Parts: sequence; C-alpha cells; structure tokens
Amino acid sequence: MISKEFQLFGHTFCINYQSALFQNSAGDLFFEHKGEVGPKVGIEALNGFMDSGALQIYINSSCPPSVQEETIWHEAVEAINAMCEMGLTHPHIQTLGAGIHQIIKTMRSTTGQGNLPQLVFNSNDCCRVAAEEDLLP
Ligand SMILES: [Zn+2]
Repeated sequence: MISKEFQLFGHTFCINYQSALFQNSAGDLFFEHKGEVGPKVGIEALNGFMDSGALQIYINSSCPPSVQEETIWHEAVEAINAMCEMGLTHPHIQTLGAGIHQIIKTMRSTTGQGNLPQLVFNSNDCCRVAAEEDLLP
C-alpha cells in the first residue's frame, strides 16, 4: 500500500490506497467484500472515503488513475468541509473537488517552461501564479 500525506490546518492527513473499498449502510468502512453490492443489500463500493477524526483518506486504487486523483481532491474538500463545519452539500463538495482537479491538471506555463506553477502573494493577500519576471534573481 502506497501512502502519502498532506497538512491541513496543522493536522497531517494520510492518504491510503486500497484495492477494494466498501461502506455499509451504518457508515462502516471495510476493505474486502465478497457478496452482493448495491442499495438493496446496503453495501456501497466507494472511490474514496475521508475520516476527519482519524485524519485518514482512503482511495480505491482499482479506479482509473484520473478518478483516483479527482477523488483525492474530493476527499480533501470533504476534510475542509468537516473541519471547518462549512455545511457544504455533497454536490458542492463534488463540484469543488472535480473543479480543483481539472485546474491542477490543466495548468500550464504560458512560456512553455515547466508545468508546475509557483504561487506568489500580492499586497492584497491574493495569490496568483508567478509570472516569469517574479522568478528572475
Ligand atoms: Zn464525498
């Protein structure tokens, strides 16, 4: 199992990759299930799951890579929502996670030099992607 981590509000969240990820109707998470899956039996296959109390995110590694990446952003938004008690609905969380994922995946340098953006902060405390002149010594 590959693990990664990130910091959020002073806490370290661990990302765990599982080849199978299920939840029952009581909300219990489990990593193996050999029976039927569906609403009738109360067992749901998941792409991801976030546990803000345990600071853990689980990603279904059987999903295509792009789905796993999007799910990480979805679960990160879930974590922000839970920790800040924002009260976002699940469609809001899904929209924000998918939107952030697309922005991150499509952000490119306009000069063709490198694809990883650097952020700079201006006097209004807004951040933006660094322009080339910002990066000159
Ligand atoms: Zn969700």
